[in-house]
Amino acid sequence: MSSRTAIVTGGASGIGLAIGRRLAADGASVALMDLDAEAARDAAAALEAEGGKALGLGVDVTDRLAIDSAVAEVRATLGASAILVNSAGITVAGPFLELTAETWNRVLAVNLTGTFECCQAVLPDMIERGWGRIVNISSSSMHSGVPGMAAYVSSKAGMVGLTKVLALEFGRRGITVNTIPPGFIETPMMRESLRKGVFDMDLQVSRTPVGRVGRPEDIAATCAFLVSEEAAYITGQIIGVNGGRNT
Ligand code: NAP
Repeated sequence: MSSRTAIVTGGASGIGLAIGRRLAADGASVALMDLDAEAARDAAAALEAEGGKALGLGVDVTDRLAIDSAVAEVRATLGASAILVNSAGITVAGPFLELTAETWNRVLAVNLTGTFECCQAVLPDMIERGWGRIVNISSSSMHSGVPGMAAYVSSKAGMVGLTKVLALEFGRRGITVNTIPPGFIETPMMRESLRKGVFDMDLQVSRTPVGRVGRPEDIAATCAFLVSEEAAYITGQIIGVNGGRNT
């Protein structure tokens, strides 16, 4: 992994941060991109203090100019990107009949269009090297549906479709594209949903065959494998990490 540069969006928090930490520990140079520039820089500083090589950048994944400029900065500082993990995401819950087009558009803009923009911005570097790994963090909710989460679940289902198309388009160029739909993972996003009463922790755990909530590190371990050399024959796949739910 030591010759690889990885970009992780949503890399200052939760699953994205755990993935960045794991890839840095595995030897990759890691760029953490997040909406909150200070949080991204602090997270990168923490990875550096742990012995990794990291850069934190404030990037809104709905802003293509900001993405392009950040990808160029990563290229100049850490080298051309070979790995992209799209973990930036937002969630909104509420009855479908009260869902406004504005909210719908915002959720799709971050979760789905943001993933599209980042893939398009980073793919040329991968094509040039003839090697690349993209992992899109979707959601197990796209298997099951979740009442009150139409925009979120639709955006995550869209990420699965995008993953499959990119896998077909870029398979012969040494680039794999897979998606991990996480189950119920304890992160700031999940804690906020619990606080708002969107989910009940005990109920979720009782429905999970392995009998516990997921950890961000569970997702990071799977992601580390998918971006490795050894995973070269795995592409276009949905690799559920959900404690046995929704499989
Ligand atoms: P998290 O802790 O909230 O991390 C998401 C990160 O993305 C945050 O740092 C957030 O920044 C950032 N972000 C939001 N909008 C952004 C934008 N426009 N541009 C750049 N960064 C942006 O949540 P998480 O639980 O780790 O979620 C990571 C991914 O996993 C998400 O895509 C989520 O949908 C997916 N997922 C999570 C679970 C779960 O159980 N936790 C389950 C299934 C799927 P701010 O905090 O500043 O908004």
